Amino acid sequence: MKNIIVTGGAGFIGSHLVNRLLKEDYNVIVIDKLTYAGSLLNLPINSKRLKFYKFDISNKSKMKQVISRYQPIFFFNVAAETHVDRSIEYPMNFVNTNIVGVVNILECLRKNLSNKNFKKKFTNFIHISTDEVYGSTTVSKPFNEKSPYNPSSPYSASKAASDHLVISWAKTYNLPFIVTNCSNNFGPRQFPEKLIPLMIHKLFNEEDLPLYGDGNQKRDWIFVENHVEGLILASKYGTKGNTYLFGSGVAVSNKIVVKHLIKIYKKYYKKCNSKIVYVEDRPAHDKTYLIDPNRSIKLLKWSYKNNLFTELEKTFLWYKNNQKWMKNISKKSKYTYIRQGLIK
Ligand code: NAD
Repeated sequence: MKNIIVTGGAGFIGSHLVNRLLKEDYNVIVIDKLTYAGSLLNLPINSKRLKFYKFDISNKSKMKQVISRYQPIFFFNVAAETHVDRSIEYPMNFVNTNIVGVVNILECLRKNLSNKNFKKKFTNFIHISTDEVYGSTTVSKPFNEKSPYNPSSPYSASKAASDHLVISWAKTYNLPFIVTNCSNNFGPRQFPEKLIPLMIHKLFNEEDLPLYGDGNQKRDWIFVENHVEGLILASKYGTKGNTYLFGSGVAVSNKIVVKHLIKIYKKYYKKCNSKIVYVEDRPAHDKTYLIDPNRSIKLLKWSYKNNLFTELEKTFLWYKNNQKWMKNISKKSKYTYIRQGLIK
């Protein structure tokens, strides 16, 4: 049976990818440091086809060992520090994981690929990245794979750096390494610091719903499973040194998303005691993200399948039915959300 390595497989997108890969005939090897965002609760840990290793992606000897032992056909790098607010408070964590950690993976892979047998079976290294590397745009100018990089936050700058490193390793060392850039994901198991699970968490706790600035920042939302489908297609059909973008092609304001969540809450609980409050904006907050997914649709035969508002309700219901998960994972973080809740 063929092996696949997934770093960050205990996190939000990583765990959806692992669960999806296990539906096919693969062994999946997860490498994850289990930061506040990662949890074994997210994985079918008793599956015979899943192996879990707890270590930092910057660990050279362990990374080399695991690659050499399992000789995967695909390697998905999903591990990262991912929250913009935290990157403003603690930028070095982002440099260490998102840049130094990625170089370590690239080097360990490159060295292992000098083994001819491994090189023969290895198909693709897929580096999972974000549309935030392109900075802010307008609704008339969606991002495509030729858009110039223009990151605004320590998070997006660290992801931009890692994208460049991956593409340069593909070109310089002639290795099958590719990058995918996706828009905002949502769905079950997302740590409740990101907009949608945070607002759901606050609705359940009857707290106010803080929106940055005027709440008119627009995002292109994609249901996590639809992103995962794209990642699997990219692993099978992506071409060395290329970039593939995934998104819905539609930008919706944060205010509209949160108003819709209030509507869903009222459908199930009748009365809602939470209200939107506008708080001081995040520094360098990008106004609009929007993807043009046409190249991925054409080259990878990917499709945008989901309806935002239908999937929002499904996501809401998942959190409603998994409040124990929410309590457990929230306990893992001592972060005070210093940037959220400062009432203007
Ligand atoms: P997440 O924060 O939910 O999970 C990250 C996972 O990586 C966690 O399991 C964590 O324990 C692990 N991790 C962090 N640092 C590590 C390290 N040094 N060594 C080993 N493991 C480590 O993140 P996510 O939202 O699932 O995002 C995953 C990837 O997808 C990131 O690269 C992110 O930039 C990208 N992405 C996310 C979104 C989104 O909306 N969530 C959108 C586009 C792209």
